[in-house]
Amino acid sequence: MNTKIKEENLTTLIELWEKGERIVEEIYIACEICNKKYWINAWDFLWNYAYLYIYESYKPEATLSICYNDGSQMLYGKGIILMINKIFWDQWYDCEEARAFFIAHELMHVFLGHLNLPPYLSPTDLNIVADMTIHEILKIPECVLKRAKPVTAEEFFAQFGIKAKKGETFEYYLNLYMSIKKEFENIISSIEKYAKGEISQKEIERTIENSRFSKKIKEVFKEHAEKRKEQEELKDKIIDKIIDKIENDLEKRGEKLDKETRERLKRKLKNKFEPIPSDIHEKLAKSGGAGLEEALRKAGIHPGATISLIYYDWKEIFKNIIGYGIGHAERIRYTWLRPWKKTGVPPGIIPAPPPKVGIVFDVSGSMTEVADDIAAALRELFRQYQDMAEFWVVECDVKVQKGPYQITAGWTSFYTPATEGGTELNPGIRELNRYGPFDVFILATDGDVFEPLIERPITNVLVALYPPDYYVSLKKYYPDIYEIVVKTEMKIKVG
Ligand SMILES: [Zn+2]
Repeated sequence: MNTKIKEENLTTLIELWEKGERIVEEIYIACEICNKKYWINAWDFLWNYAYLYIYESYKPEATLSICYNDGSQMLYGKGIILMINKIFWDQWYDCEEARAFFIAHELMHVFLGHLNLPPYLSPTDLNIVADMTIHEILKIPECVLKRAKPVTAEEFFAQFGIKAKKGETFEYYLNLYMSIKKEFENIISSIEKYAKGEISQKEIERTIENSRFSKKIKEVFKEHAEKRKEQEELKDKIIDKIIDKIENDLEKRGEKLDKETRERLKRKLKNKFEPIPSDIHEKLAKSGGAGLEEALRKAGIHPGATISLIYYDWKEIFKNIIGYGIGHAERIRYTWLRPWKKTGVPPGIIPAPPPKVGIVFDVSGSMTEVADDIAAALRELFRQYQDMAEFWVVECDVKVQKGPYQITAGWTSFYTPATEGGTELNPGIRELNRYGPFDVFILATDGDVFEPLIERPITNVLVALYPPDYYVSLKKYYPDIYEIVVKTEMKIKVG
């Protein structure tokens, strides 16, 4: 690939491998093992044909993934991208074989043509089947089997009592998988019909009996059908009672409920009742089978991850980091108590101060374009953590224009004077620091500052939010800052 990636378009959550981190060396070692164990010349392939991106995510499902990026309006150029979540990678520090296996797994997706799969199937469906196919070919190392449960075709279909033929093609497994998925959904919808009295008990039993599921799973379905029916009947009884009461009240006033109105009321009330959450998945899992994706989830993580469509949204990364900072603070505060002057609580009870998020917002011209997006994200976060965290804001250009103030329920957006040019962030940071320490400290700016940043935000997690078109990185002042470019999103398409 000779498409060059423009560095200013990258968020630094994602780091280029040329930066020579320790992880690159580890990847090299893993590739060497790949070569010996699986006859895959992984390093050569990666070096010549793929981009490698290392990022950090605390989401458990973020592992390794490979994809083809068509290059439209994005962080990356065109080409194959191997994405590695450093957090996940580091968890396997004691098993080089596992890392080699993960890389081999991802490259197998390329070699087996999984990046050109039919677009009408969901990413989950594709991933399940693609992974099963790969695990029939690659021998899964012991250390992986001990800690993770990769999806194998044999085990997967055995749960449903269906025999899979070993060594078949991807298409074969895909058809098999899609057919049991369809059957599963059909049975669930038949049970709903049965519960509503649209089909008879004989009919539902026959449907379940004729399915291809194992005997154990059929039993669970039958039991579930009866439960659902009972629920519906109970619902009817309750509704009848409510309507009786309404009729009585009306009668006292000399009025009467006509038949049509009664029926309409009954339907209306019935729709108001939420169906009781079904425990069928849990039951199925216990009986040895499970509802497809549910079965996979219950089986624990499986190496290799999402192929096909990956949606990467700045807001998601941003919220993730805030959530991480707040969650982290919650954990620390559990053991760290200090008196909080503001509350008049009974003696002996010492509430811990809530986690704090601070934001210095640069109101200079270049930020107007993203002000509303950032404000919207903050409003969402405020709603989400309303009772848990405080959000503090200071707005500045060449001097502090507004704040520090606390975001409240009525807060809408930043004050945006039409000032041109540069910014001074030091006073803003200094002012906000007086309300710290913060669990997350955000600098929303284009980074075009008059004075070098000498103030250090007092925080555990430092985040930069930049406008998309032009910004100057703050990394030189704060090497540990998480940099996020607002409005960037990428869709990585398969095939
Ligand atoms: Zn995979």
